[in-house]
Amino acid sequence: MNDKKVGVISKVAGPLVVAKGMTGVKLYDVVRVSEKRLIGEVIELRGDQASVQVYEETAGIGPGEPVYQTGEALSVELGPGLIESIYDGIQRPLAVVYEKAGDQIPLGIEVPKLNREKVWKFKKVAKVGDKVTGGDVLGTVVETKAVLHKIMVPPYLTGTVTWVYEGDAKIEDTIAKIKDEKGVEHEINMIQHWPVRVGRPYVEKLSPTQPMTTGQRVIDTLFPIAIGGVACIPGPFGSGKTVVQHQLAKWADVDIVIFIGCGERGNEMTDVLMEFPELQDAKTGESIMKRTVLIANTSNMPVAAREASVYTGITIAEYYRDMGYKVAVMADSTSRWAEALREMSSRLEEMPGEEGYPAYLATRIAGFYERAGYVTCLGKDGRKGAVSAIGAVSPAGGDTSEPVSQATLRIVKVYWGLSAQLARSRHFPAIDWLKSYSLYDDVLEEYYDKNVQKGWTKQVQKARALLQEEAKLNEIVRLVGVDSLEFQDRLTLEVTKSIREDYLHQIAFHEVDTYTSLQKQYGMLNTILHWYEKGQEALKNDVSFKLIEAMPIRERIGRMKYVKEADFPKEFKDCIAAIDSDYDKLAKGGQQ
Ligand code: ADP
Repeated sequence: MNDKKVGVISKVAGPLVVAKGMTGVKLYDVVRVSEKRLIGEVIELRGDQASVQVYEETAGIGPGEPVYQTGEALSVELGPGLIESIYDGIQRPLAVVYEKAGDQIPLGIEVPKLNREKVWKFKKVAKVGDKVTGGDVLGTVVETKAVLHKIMVPPYLTGTVTWVYEGDAKIEDTIAKIKDEKGVEHEINMIQHWPVRVGRPYVEKLSPTQPMTTGQRVIDTLFPIAIGGVACIPGPFGSGKTVVQHQLAKWADVDIVIFIGCGERGNEMTDVLMEFPELQDAKTGESIMKRTVLIANTSNMPVAAREASVYTGITIAEYYRDMGYKVAVMADSTSRWAEALREMSSRLEEMPGEEGYPAYLATRIAGFYERAGYVTCLGKDGRKGAVSAIGAVSPAGGDTSEPVSQATLRIVKVYWGLSAQLARSRHFPAIDWLKSYSLYDDVLEEYYDKNVQKGWTKQVQKARALLQEEAKLNEIVRLVGVDSLEFQDRLTLEVTKSIREDYLHQIAFHEVDTYTSLQKQYGMLNTILHWYEKGQEALKNDVSFKLIEAMPIRERIGRMKYVKEADFPKEFKDCIAAIDSDYDKLAKGGQQ
């Protein structure tokens, strides 16, 4: 407790404390409030008066009590031991806190963010004499079965390695020494401290060119997200938001997942804490926690900790990105986070903007998503890393015209619009194909055409156009009935039904259906469209619509999603051949 007393509390308003006499304190510095030493952060400074956002319960604190300066910005500790941890919004490890104090987090509790006692096997990469700069890898430790943790030279340090260790070490032990250009020797251990509100540096942001495949057909085919991309998913209750997030955590082509549970009700967060460790990683067969960090803020925790949690999460994500990994950050829900902003803003008596949110709401939301991206990392090897950010929004009543949704939609490039109506009719994932969009589809077309199958883009555009056509036709059907439609249009309704039911509908809990490779996605959609195109031709040749509609092959097409990946190439070939021969038979025998 070597913090210096600086100020005196003049006012307490919920999580906001105003203190006077705060000379020498900087904006975003951490301070300790009252003798209870509550953790707070300076969020506004006017002369020597500071407004402090307090991350713990302030009941019982009053004017006249002291405020202590720590001289540090609100920071995270980065190093081995992050993976598998469950933290609160200011990176207090919940399991450790619980062990020490039970389920009520005691005020002002001091716990190390990373385990100081654990011994890691440090394997050196750098050699004595190496000239190194920020980001260069000094060595590695096996953090979990799924993650090789790279111990990097901290950003902004350049020099020559004068000593490097190999063997067992705790995170505070020196593992290398670097002499900088001024001749000062720096002892490097395995911990980096980083202020959460400042993005970690990189060499260059690159435009995303590769898809972050998810194995979820509606996402990969219709609304793909790029590696390093930003997406948003609204979550009307019961619409399958949790299942989508779990599927992404399990199947998305990423190395690390950071899940920020932000201010959802306490019991929902408990579900996340219980369920996440149960999810099995498809790649390793281990628990998904072996490559996951959870940040859990329930709404019974103080509102201010929620505000900090997204920054804590994205900073940890950037750190793994810096190692050259593909990281996905999922924040659920950013609406609860924005409400925390609103509450703090009103306590600060700032001029309210729309619906009471502060005028800087949009800037803050943009600031979060802008920390995502595909980058060239610091370090001589020019490795690439990415943070993809997926934020859930949960506007009251599902009304996305409110400010948080609107500000989010302006910045994200992918919108997976979950529909309560689709969920009610048990169409899962309930991503509405008419409302959703991806602005990456142009960029990714080239990738898909080159790496999956030539013709992918054309095929997807066709499916999209058909689904839009279906919406129009349905309007007509509602007015005048299906019998009034031309047979060509009725065929369109048949193929779109097949696209919806046989293709977009995907059961997360089915062993095979839960994940579909891009090759299989292409094959499935190709088969459905082949049946349709052949049908169009047949109709032109006066084959009866009734016979086309009743073709038995359609059932086989519907079962393709359950065909194992290994068996699929044959099934695809056989199905196309069967469609051709069945239409041949119709043309010969089934004319009206
Ligand atoms: P939310 O989080 O939006 O409240 P959930 O993700 O918990 O909703 O989904 C509600 C229910 O919908 C789940 O328990 C499950 O039965 C069903 N469901 C959602 N998505 C799928 C899916 N892809 N496949 C099968 N069932 C699903």
